[in-house]
This record gives sequence, structure tokens and C-alpha cells, in this order.
Amino acid sequence: MNYFSLNQKSNPVSFKDAVINGLAPDRGLYFPENITPLSKDFIDNLSEYSFEEIAFEVIKQFVGNEIPKNTLKQIVSETISFDFPIVKIKENIGSLELFHGPTLAFKDVGARFMARCLGHFNKDNSKHVTVLVATSGDTGGAVANGFLGVKGVDVVILYPSGKVSDIQEKQLTTLGENITALEVDGVFDDCQDMVKTAFLDEKIFRNLTSANSINIARWLPQMFYYFFAYKQLYKNHPNIVFSVPSGNFGNICAGIMAQKLGLPIRHFIAATNVNDTVPEFMKNGQYTPKASKASISNAMDVGNPSNFIRIQQLYNQSFESLKSGFSSYSFSDYSTKIAMKKIYQETNYIADPHGAVGYLGLEKHNLQNDEYGVFLETAHPVKFLDVVEDTLNLKIKIPSDIAELVKKNKHSIKIRSYDELKSFLNK
Ligand SMILES: *Cc1c(COP(=O)(O)O)cnc(C)c1O
Repeated sequence: MNYFSLNQKSNPVSFKDAVINGLAPDRGLYFPENITPLSKDFIDNLSEYSFEEIAFEVIKQFVGNEIPKNTLKQIVSETISFDFPIVKIKENIGSLELFHGPTLAFKDVGARFMARCLGHFNKDNSKHVTVLVATSGDTGGAVANGFLGVKGVDVVILYPSGKVSDIQEKQLTTLGENITALEVDGVFDDCQDMVKTAFLDEKIFRNLTSANSINIARWLPQMFYYFFAYKQLYKNHPNIVFSVPSGNFGNICAGIMAQKLGLPIRHFIAATNVNDTVPEFMKNGQYTPKASKASISNAMDVGNPSNFIRIQQLYNQSFESLKSGFSSYSFSDYSTKIAMKKIYQETNYIADPHGAVGYLGLEKHNLQNDEYGVFLETAHPVKFLDVVEDTLNLKIKIPSDIAELVKKNKHSIKIRSYDELKSFLNK
């Protein structure tokens, strides 16, 4: 399968090169040249296939013959070796829990898939690849965990000192081996700027790639979630509306890809926090990126969502067709906390702030009688311990592996400037 750049100025490349490059030379995002729907028979009988079989069918056309079939099967089965349950909240609403992976957030699936693909492509290559990634919290842990011990790949994670939660920091600073954490004296935007500068710097003598959701190997496997939800629901609830808590819009964009593959999805809702660039766009068709604002759902604090351009491509750049299948709403921290309380009081379910934003999206949509709403619960509430405990006035039981993790010593290298990053990378 070939991928072209959405900036249209670079030549199409193979799956392998798209994964290794991350971004096209013209700075555009890669997009598949063809999307072939799966057979109706397969989709109508989804309940008869295992999660592994479904995931393999969904991803195989996007990899083509660049990874042998049995290797790809192995990669897929290692990627999704945990549960993806739907927990019933109300008669017509379910929570699709995507936090049962090792770092307790949905990014594990993309990070694990990408790590294994890169490991495969690099196994006979003496030249190391360095994955350079900036994180506001969850990406760092998922990438560190996914890439730990992968041969030929070094991982360098930049995170803003004091701005990530204790658990998030321990997830990315305690692994060692091929993972290095750089603790930046600054905010997330400073980390991201340093990473971008490094990618453009010809005087960095390493093979750099990115592991943010711009990378197709992190973006595409997220299609699995929507198929897994449909498999569990369609016999009783065929008309599913998905509400996806969105930041960089990679997850929801994968959902729209799943729909392109023939999955019957009634409607998409992109639910955001106060960072409302896309909800504003949906009102008037004007795209105005903004500086990101801090919120209690911090993994979605993005003012210029990089994947929105892929979503527009999926709707053929038509505002009218986008509006018919996709809505987007923004919610304040105040409404998010009220929703967390309401969900807990009415149903006993503990939602994290991101999931609660997704829930609010369903409320705003006003489900029709024949519709079933699914919100994606993208992180375990324990990852946002302080907010959840304060809002709900309760104590959350800490999973034993997290309790162990918090006891470990952190190892980070403090940096203050781009020059310090550069000398680290060139040393
Ligand atoms: C990254 C993240 C999001 C946002 O996902 P996008 O694909 O960037 O829209 C939502 N919730 C949690 C918990 C996350 O870590």
C-alpha cells in the first residue's frame, strides 16, 4: 500500500517508509492511496470472528505485502492482548473501556503496533532509529512501554517538568534500557517545539522518527476499537453513535476510516474540552487554530489538532458531507465535573475526565429511540487520581502494578534549551 502526503508536494511512499518517516518531507501527513471496503458478509457476521481475526482483516490492506502475513498476525495479536469491554451505563448508553492495556490509556494500542512494525523493519538494519516524542502525559508512557526492549530503536521522550501526573511521570522515567526521559524546564508546547526543531535540523546525526498520532502506524490500528464495539453490540443495537473525547483527533479519525471500510456507524461526535477549534469550525466552516488551554482533561489540551486535515480528506473536503456524519461540541471543566458526579450518582460508574467529556457529547446529541450511544473511556480514572477523588469525594482503589510503579525511582535528564537537546542527541 502506498501513502501520499496531504500537502501533495512529496512523492508517495510505501507503508514501511511512511512509518519510518513519520511525516512526509513536505511536512504533510500521510494518507492511504486506496481504501477498499471489507466484504458485507464479513461485517454482517462480525460476532463470529475473534478480536484478533477482526484486527488482522482490518489492518492488512494498509500494510500490504510489506510485512509477511504470519508476522503481521503475530504483531496484531501482541498489540491487542488485553480486553476492550463495553460497560452498560444506561439502557441506551455504554462505555467502551480502552484503558485495559499496560499504561492504562487507549494509546497503548497504537504505540504497541508501531513499535512492533518498526522493530520488524529494523531487525536486519545496523543503523539505529531514534523515536523522538513530546508528551503532555499519556503518549510518553505508552510509547516507553510499547518500545521497551525493541532492538535497533532508541526512544527519547521530552516531558514538561512538574506538568504531568505522578503516575504518568513514573511510567516514562522508570524503564531504562532503550528509553530515555528528558525533563524539560517549560510547558508541553516547549517540548513540542524542540521536537519539531530537531526534525528540521540537518546537523542532528541520528535517524529520527516520530511516534505521535501523525504516524500512520499509531493512527490506523485505532480502527480496531470501533469494530470491537460493533461486534459486541450490533445484534441488539445496530445503530451506534460514537462519542470520542478528542484532542489531536487521531482516534475519531480512525473511527471514520472504520466507517469507510463498511462498518455501519450512525454518527460521530467529537467531544472536546475548552479547546474548541473544531467545534467552532463546525459552526461556520472557518478553521482558526488557537493556543492550547489547560484543562482537567489534559490529554486533550490541543489548540491545532493535527489529524483534522485527515478527517476533511475522508469527507472529500466537503463541509456539507462532514456536517451530515459528524458533530463536535466543547465542554468546560465545570460541566465535566458535574457529568462525572451525575454518572457516578445515577449509575455508580467512575468516569475519568476524558470519558466524562465523551459522555457529555452523547447527552448533547440527544439519542433517537433506535440509537445506542457509546462513549470511549480513554483512560483509567486512577491516571487522574486527584481530580476524580476530589470531584466524586471518594478513594479509588489503586491497581497493584500501579502501586509498585509509584515506588520506583525516576531517572530523567533535565534540559532547558534546544541546544541541550541537540548535544544530547549528537553525543
Ligand atoms: C490522547 C488522549 C485523548 C485524545 O485522543 P486524540 O486521538 O488525540 O484525539 C483522549 N483521552 C486520553 C485519555 C488521551 O490520552
